[in-house]
Amino acid sequence: MSSIKELRLILGDQLNEQHSWYRQNDDSVLYVLMEIKPESEYVTHHIQKIVGIFHAMRSFSDWLRSAGHQVRYFSIGDSQNQHSFSKNISSLVEQHEVSKLSYQEPDEWRLERQFAIEFEALGVEVEKVSSEHFYLERTELSQFLSAKTYVMEPFYRKLRKQFGVLMEADQPVTGQWNYDQSNRKKLPKDIQPPEPLEFAHDVQGIWEEIEAARIQSIGELDATRFPWPKDRNESLEVLDYFINELLVRFGDYQDALTDRSWSLFHSRLSFALNVKMLSPREVVDAVEAHWRKSEESDISQVEGFIRQILGWREFMRAIYWLEMPRFKTLNFFESANALPEYFWTGKTKMKCVSHAINQSLEQAYAHHIQRLMVTGNFAMLAGIHPDQVDRWYLGIYIDAFEWVELTNTRGMSQFADGGIVGTKPYAGSASYVHKMSDYCKSCHYNHKIRHGESACPFNSLYWDFLERNRSKLQHNQRMSMMYRVLDKMMPKEKIRTFEQARFYLEKMEEL
Ligand code: FAD
Repeated sequence: MSSIKELRLILGDQLNEQHSWYRQNDDSVLYVLMEIKPESEYVTHHIQKIVGIFHAMRSFSDWLRSAGHQVRYFSIGDSQNQHSFSKNISSLVEQHEVSKLSYQEPDEWRLERQFAIEFEALGVEVEKVSSEHFYLERTELSQFLSAKTYVMEPFYRKLRKQFGVLMEADQPVTGQWNYDQSNRKKLPKDIQPPEPLEFAHDVQGIWEEIEAARIQSIGELDATRFPWPKDRNESLEVLDYFINELLVRFGDYQDALTDRSWSLFHSRLSFALNVKMLSPREVVDAVEAHWRKSEESDISQVEGFIRQILGWREFMRAIYWLEMPRFKTLNFFESANALPEYFWTGKTKMKCVSHAINQSLEQAYAHHIQRLMVTGNFAMLAGIHPDQVDRWYLGIYIDAFEWVELTNTRGMSQFADGGIVGTKPYAGSASYVHKMSDYCKSCHYNHKIRHGESACPFNSLYWDFLERNRSKLQHNQRMSMMYRVLDKMMPKEKIRTFEQARFYLEKMEEL
């Protein structure tokens, strides 16, 4: 250990076995990983998220050691762990008299700033390198996305061309770029999605250490059967399972909502991707290769999936880096209401909301449409402050990291950015939820009515949301049809609907 010249810091979401750092063994390099208490507490996280990250970090450090690298791992209960990146690094610098600290670009703006300041003060050479994970380097983002045109589709097409994904020369391989229109089906009664692939890890030891460190958390955990992948090999198994069992219907039921399955045909790859156990390129390439060699999966499923990763995921990251730190403060609708208590308990009579929240507490996972059109839509219609909505999303999902959580929550789902991510708010009344789900038939509320005792809150809140934000939305072309419907509503009907909304807003905790 005395010959250490360089420290290389690896964050909990930088578990990329394929990074060029690891191609050569070097006795003068010490890799450093740390479980830091404040990082586990800046919002209240789901217990599965904390366990999942620590579990994957520990597996990664085992992999590094088995590959012949030197590692200093500060576990949460380690008596020498000072629970600060810079303090732990500083004591290693002193201990080994190292001359250099290297680290990979953090994906979070907060850490980027913090490291720039704190590491500068260490008095050693500091080098920041790429995390070698995303399609685009950070320096390239503004070339692919200009501030005037934050629109996903042209960005996605540019990336398809640039990286030759589903392309034949410079044209889309099937002659059509996008199959979004065929990705919007309700789940029929006779189709039952397969069970998701889950592991059954014993994580009791990690869980006990987290308990001993008194880290606050939410959600449920079966520490004898932890379901999420711990390393690259297991992540590849989840990818294979997706390609072989789920891809065939991914696109068709991408927007469907059901209480018959918690993940439908979704891949559940976001955790493995976001901690970089898998690269987006290998996921996209594997899916495209499968389509090219087999007749089974049709292009609309494949393109629908690739669009999420090559399109939306890269797009969200680009917006994050181009728009932070301002993005985190935006509140276009000036929403100020508090997040109802049932977001933490699932105890609400609204079936769709209770199903999405209970599932999130159980699994640390909800699929996109649950996040967007159920909990997100409800929070926006109910005028919840976006800071509170952000904190909830950042805590509850196993895949939640600020660069992708914030842009999706504050941007796509709350429209608090006033239209940076999307061109219109994703607002829907009960008729949307009813059309796409099987929830409404067993709900306490009636999805067909706007007012009256059992009226579904999504209805009156939807129309009230349009009315109270009229000055901000009515000139948006994509909203004009809904304003025409509202304006044609009989005056009496309007009054009763808005009264109902006011009643629900006042009784928000009792819905
Ligand atoms: P699939 O449906 O199988 O999609 C495949 C992959 O595409 C995902 O793993 C993900 O990497 C990518 N993807 C799909 N949609 C998006 C998107 N809108 N933005 C970025 N990548 C996307 N995703 C996160 O990774 N972390 C978050 O914290 C997060 N928070 C969200 C909050 C809200 C309010 C909303 C509406 C969406 C959020 N998303 C987030 C995006 C999306 O919902 C999840 O990526 C997806 O549900 C993860 O499940 P999956 O792996 O089964 O995805």
